[in-house]
Amino acid sequence: MKQKEILSNIHVNSNNKLELSEDLIDEMGDRHIQTSIDTPMRADAFDKTDEEKIGIIEQHFQAIMETLGLDLTDDSLKGTPRRVAKMYVKEIFQGLNPDNMPKVALFENKYKYQEMLVEKNISFYSNCEHHFVPIMGKAHVGYISNGQVIGLSKLNRIVDYFAKRPQVQERLTVQIGKKLQEILGTEDVAVMIDAKHLCVSSRGVKDDTSSTITAFYGGAFAEEKSKSEFLKYLEFNTKF
Ligand SMILES: [Zn+2]
Repeated sequence: MKQKEILSNIHVNSNNKLELSEDLIDEMGDRHIQTSIDTPMRADAFDKTDEEKIGIIEQHFQAIMETLGLDLTDDSLKGTPRRVAKMYVKEIFQGLNPDNMPKVALFENKYKYQEMLVEKNISFYSNCEHHFVPIMGKAHVGYISNGQVIGLSKLNRIVDYFAKRPQVQERLTVQIGKKLQEILGTEDVAVMIDAKHLCVSSRGVKDDTSSTITAFYGGAFAEEKSKSEFLKYLEFNTKF
């Protein structure tokens, strides 16, 4: 979409708020435009308990299903609104709540290991914030210790925490990278994500073969030597 077309799709309504046309909203979703590195959250995001949120989402999801014409007295369907509500709050979007951030303990780098450590092929499942359908992929994470090390499984858990939000892949990549920099107390962190978006493969353009790669290179990884070492490690295909 050209700039001119975007402008013609934006209108100022009577409350002086910008209004986006339906076409532009679709286009923004299909182009995966993001507006911020922080997940956009409301000020009252955590005023309600998880149980209250589940109750509200259950009612709304029931209304969606009924609007679609589904008969919720059917045995197979009647538990779906509550199942979906619980799944949203307790599973696939639990990373919205900072209380669910994994507890991370650091250890002294007793081995004096000075090289980069790479954990690759960390499987994750997320959901596209534009369509609420799955994103699935592999994250590859590297860091160079500045004196402290982190348990390997914590790298998986941090990837999982940020994946369990409505996401765009670019934001997911940067959120993981910045959190690792903060935890490890070093800029020397790299993250690469290769993922499939079901909103691209199962609908819309229906491309089943493409995948999307995004990368975050901090500190030493922004330099060619470390970056190419990291990328070389990702090419290794050890059979186990
Ligand atoms: Zn999408």
